[in-house]
Amino acid sequence: MHIKPNGCAGCPLERIGHGFTEVEIGSRYPGTRLLLVGEASGESESREGLPFRPHAQSGSLLADAMREIHVDRSECAITNVVRCRPPKDWLEGAPWSYGAVSQCTTNYLTKVIADLDPAAIVALGGTAFRTLASPPKGKYGTLDYARGYVHAGAGAATDRLVVPTYHPAFLRRGSAHLTPLLQRDLRRGFLLAGGRLVRGRHYAVQLEQLGLRYQTAPTIDEAWEWYRAIDPQLPIVFDIETAKSAREDEEERVNDDANRDIYLFQATQRRGEGIALPWRDEFIEVARAIMATPNTKVGHNSWNYDTPVLKANGVETCGLHDDTMVAYGSYWSDLPRNLQSCAQMAGFPFNWKHFNETDMGFYGVADVDATLAVYDYIRKVLSGESVE
Ligand code: URA
Repeated sequence: MHIKPNGCAGCPLERIGHGFTEVEIGSRYPGTRLLLVGEASGESESREGLPFRPHAQSGSLLADAMREIHVDRSECAITNVVRCRPPKDWLEGAPWSYGAVSQCTTNYLTKVIADLDPAAIVALGGTAFRTLASPPKGKYGTLDYARGYVHAGAGAATDRLVVPTYHPAFLRRGSAHLTPLLQRDLRRGFLLAGGRLVRGRHYAVQLEQLGLRYQTAPTIDEAWEWYRAIDPQLPIVFDIETAKSAREDEEERVNDDANRDIYLFQATQRRGEGIALPWRDEFIEVARAIMATPNTKVGHNSWNYDTPVLKANGVETCGLHDDTMVAYGSYWSDLPRNLQSCAQMAGFPFNWKHFNETDMGFYGVADVDATLAVYDYIRKVLSGESVE
């Protein structure tokens, strides 16, 4: 067992945390500059002084994931936010959590990141994600929503790129069906570090990098102009926001009486574009005209939710009607079906759900843009085309 260095003096885990793990720097790290950051040492790690031992519970799952995506441990560097083993392997929510995370970050992790100069960091689990980036508050900052997207680093990881993913221990504790997502996110970390993801196309840490053409507050003339420019060959992706929908996920929404007050209608036909119409006065007529076109309509959980709610508001959905949530769920029945997670799978470049409280127009247009990404992706998968 390694003795704790002086930097541990005064830490709440100084006496009660076991051992101290070194940073493992793979011999081929300089070729990838990918850093993996976990939570804290477990039993084997504190005994052997290295993180994620390949024969231990979490480390073996990580090793399997690496094998699955054909990368070798020697290609990355690995460390933990907390370098010793907390009592009962308890860190998140423990009384020593805040003190240990801040001391370990200030005294070790910041310097490790500065010295290793990683091109990308994969944060394994919520503790690493919260330490290395500023996740949105609430559920949209949880890994079911935020994982796989590229986030701007914060704190010790300022100016770095961070891809959060599930912690292997979480997958071990009854969520093994999510293991393909850990593999996918790890691969994404390697691609990002290797410069094989293009900023502004595959990811963006600032939305300006994407050149989005979202019409979030159109005039009535602009709304009719959008209608007149509808391409009869392309599907129309649509969505509505109601008082409930901004708080609930697409998959949780049900069509009940309390949920019928629409306040936004959104539509798009092309990626990176879209329009949001307020549900009032003449704008409702534009929405009605859009939905009356013979174009195929596409929504996410729209069979069960948007269409019946529109109907209750006197708006018919004409043309064929595809539901990306149903299609996604029949293909990947085990994976989360919330739109943000489906869109990540489809390669959508940014997470947007946290705008629900600050910018409803942007949030709403991103919803249809993302649904279109999912639609295109599912069609490619179903027709056997190669997908990224
Ligand atoms: N869990 C972690 O977060 N890190 C390790 O090294 C082992 C288990």
